[in-house]
Amino acid sequence: MEFLLVPVAIIWLLSPWLGLRLARAKGYSDAAGCIGGILLGPLVLLMALMSKKRLCSACKSPVPDSATACAKCGRDLPPA
Ligand SMILES: [Zn+2]
Repeated sequence: MEFLLVPVAIIWLLSPWLGLRLARAKGYSDAAGCIGGILLGPLVLLMALMSKKRLCSACKSPVPDSATACAKCGRDLPPA
């Protein structure tokens, strides 16, 4: 089982960062993302993989599900 420890440790170290990214993509606060990432650990990775990213149709930057316009280029977005 020891060979599993290294990848699990790496994933766990990345979890706050993944949580942060997920939180921003979903429109939650940064703190909620970090804390959620640390608490959930590798589960955040699964959530990040499973959550379908919504992208701006014009500039392809990720936008929150609740957004009605792209924060980057200002283009109107259809409701999710
Ligand atoms: Zn855009």
